[in-house]
Amino acid sequence: MRRFCIATDGETDRIPCRLINKRVTSEARVVQDQKSYDVIIVGGGPVGIGLAIDLAVNGVTCIVVERHASIQRIPKGQNLTPRTGEHFRRWGVTEAIRAASPIPRSYGSGGIASYRTFMSDYHYEWFNRAKIVNYYAATNERLPQYETEAVLRARAVECEEITLLTGWSFDTLTQDEGGVTVRISQTSGDEHHTVSARYVVGCDGARSPVRQAAGITQTTDPHDRLMALLVFNSRQLDEKLSVYGDKTIFNAINPDMNGYWQFLGRVDLDCNWFFHAPVPAGTTRENFDFHAFLEKAVGAPIDVTFDYVGFWELRLSLADNYGKGRVFIAGDAAHSHPPYGGYGVNTGFEDARNLSWKLAACLQGWGGEHLLESYTAERHPVFASTRDDFILKSIIEDREFTDAYNPDLDLAGFKEAWGRRAAGDDSMVTQYLPHYAGSPIVCGQSGARSGATGRHGFAARAGHHLSPPSLPDDADLWDQLGKGFTLMNLTGDTALTAAFTAAAERRGIPLKTLDLAAAGLVNMYEAEAILVRPDHFVAWAGAGAEGDAADILDRATGMFGDDQ
Ligand SMILES: Cc1cc2nc3c(=O)[nH]c(=O)nc-3n(C[C@H](O)[C@H](O)[C@H](O)COP(=O)(O)OP(=O)(O)OC[C@H]3O[C@@H](n4cnc5c(N)ncnc54)[C@H](O)[C@@H]3O)c2cc1C
Repeated sequence: MRRFCIATDGETDRIPCRLINKRVTSEARVVQDQKSYDVIIVGGGPVGIGLAIDLAVNGVTCIVVERHASIQRIPKGQNLTPRTGEHFRRWGVTEAIRAASPIPRSYGSGGIASYRTFMSDYHYEWFNRAKIVNYYAATNERLPQYETEAVLRARAVECEEITLLTGWSFDTLTQDEGGVTVRISQTSGDEHHTVSARYVVGCDGARSPVRQAAGITQTTDPHDRLMALLVFNSRQLDEKLSVYGDKTIFNAINPDMNGYWQFLGRVDLDCNWFFHAPVPAGTTRENFDFHAFLEKAVGAPIDVTFDYVGFWELRLSLADNYGKGRVFIAGDAAHSHPPYGGYGVNTGFEDARNLSWKLAACLQGWGGEHLLESYTAERHPVFASTRDDFILKSIIEDREFTDAYNPDLDLAGFKEAWGRRAAGDDSMVTQYLPHYAGSPIVCGQSGARSGATGRHGFAARAGHHLSPPSLPDDADLWDQLGKGFTLMNLTGDTALTAAFTAAAERRGIPLKTLDLAAAGLVNMYEAEAILVRPDHFVAWAGAGAEGDAADILDRATGMFGDDQ
């Protein structure tokens, strides 16, 4: 039987990253032609590899087809939420992620917002994701996306369930009731092969050939902005910004930018930086003075050595559906947007967590007919809200602010408005709380709507992330949650546990039960029992539901209506 290997060649348009390539290719397995997998993942970026690892945790086999052999060394996707930290815990990579971070954890993770330039007299502390860590079982992390990807790839090649095939590109797909067949080609070569699986997931970025091949449409809000991304070294910038102390990100709200961000971030503590901002249409590497552009944003002369200058079109796109038949999309393939608020890869990882257990449930026979539909029902409104309530809102509010206030015309009015802004400008962190309150598979309030806004708290609410507290004996509740569903019995009501256990066994649903009566959590969670999903969202929270256990489990696994 013919076997084909992971490609090992580098690519000329990429900054070499020998360590990363070695870690991936030296451990990678070969793939056997015609072998069938549970899932084919197209795209071995962060979301594709994260999904592969989560599927492996759930006992599902997959092949990841990635067109590039090397990881693109562009320092994007740096700002990771505490919720993403929980994914890293589940995937067993927390320590490796921290070891790969070029900025030590002792260094601050927050930022500075300023007016017009980074060295402005008008500035305030801004965007500190550490503010919400108490509600998560992990901390926020900060490292360039290429380091995250290298860690995830190294983890993936350790998993027996995952076959990682780099240097091969997705071409086309066909699907029927039994599965999906995908044709792939060597990215730099003439060979073609077909691979079959029960499901395909396109984690293949904003252009997503899989989305297009499946006929999934998307809605785009074109902003007609050309964005430049600059990666550079500057010791003088480091010296100048040291006046702010340990800060990693800087956003200068500039009237000339019409609400779009001038955003600067530290890559490491060796004076390497990235910067992105809109540039005039038609700008190229050759016809624009990027050094002067940077100095204008900083508000002072600085030395600059450029490593990379790139461009992208700023637009917001959202797929109208996250799946069609047996084909699904996740990450930037489903939603792409400017990196305002650092939601991109964090949202993509949550897509992966949401989809992974549902695919596992259907493959293992305990998922109901409506379970996979709930992937779109839950994740689509979350990104629509992220787009409208955070990203677009920020552009509009910044535009309105700079239109209304100008220190050169009315200093007192500007100072007063700037002070108000400084006092309340943390909503992108503190009010960002993706939830599925309106999901068809949670037992919540009728009429509730899913979205991305909310206030963090410990009360267990159906469709919301479970905030895990420290237990009195310092035991870690998060570690005790099962890989499948978990019934947290907070009162020790044995009849309730027995009812859920019996109903789960009849349906083949993996359910772990925890007797947490001694922990005294009823007041904090405002519930006597909580059914936690495999992605650690609350499916149901309440009291005295012995008689309803079967219905609750049916709903949580998408088995309702026609299934019953
Ligand atoms: C400047 C900048 C800063 C950012 N900062 C943040 C941040 O702070 N926080 C945050 O959460 N997000 C941030 N983002 C967004 C984040 O980088 C993206 O959301 C993330 O890369 C999406 O991951 P993905 O795996 O979905 O897609 P991608 O990273 O685009 O990966 C897609 C993969 O699919 C592969 N592929 C494509 N076509 C094929 C094919 N035909 N066959 C096989 N493989 C294919 C590609 O090679 C690629 O490896 C930032 C983005 C930018 C540009």
